[in-house]
Amino acid sequence: MPSGGCWCDGTRYEYGVKPLERILCHCITCQKISGGAFTVNLMVPTKDVHMTKGAENLKSHTQDHILGGKLSVYFCGICGTCLYKQLHMSPFDQNFVIQSGTLDEVEGKLGADVEPPDQESFIERRAGWLPPFELIDMRNDSRKVVATK
Ligand SMILES: [Zn+2]
Ligand SMILES: [Zn+2]
Repeated sequence: MPSGGCWCDGTRYEYGVKPLERILCHCITCQKISGGAFTVNLMVPTKDVHMTKGAENLKSHTQDHILGGKLSVYFCGICGTCLYKQLHMSPFDQNFVIQSGTLDEVEGKLGADVEPPDQESFIERRAGWLPPFELIDMRNDSRKVVATK
């Protein structure tokens, strides 16, 4: 079962299903939350995500999101690593959005390589120095393409 955790190991989680979607996102929210140029977001139903350590250390913060609705971030109260997010807007509120960089290493593969992204969103916000990625541009109604694979 895929598992992950924060930098200090004070919080850990696992999930029992394949992510519904794996999206590399360049939006300003993802940049601010991660502190990086983008985030790889794994959509996993909330009922399938289980805290296995440090649930009492998990903190959250909620504010308005650019897509409308509120976004909550869930992070380790000790080291500050964001494990996942949740957009409180139907149908997105059925899922947690796991930050793929928090996944555990598997057979020498870093967490971010365990669940590579299929799609790319907010391409208009991507950093100019990034090389192109061979991912589906979500602006072109890509969900159907992914679903037929
Ligand atoms: Zn931590
Ligand atoms: Zn984003």
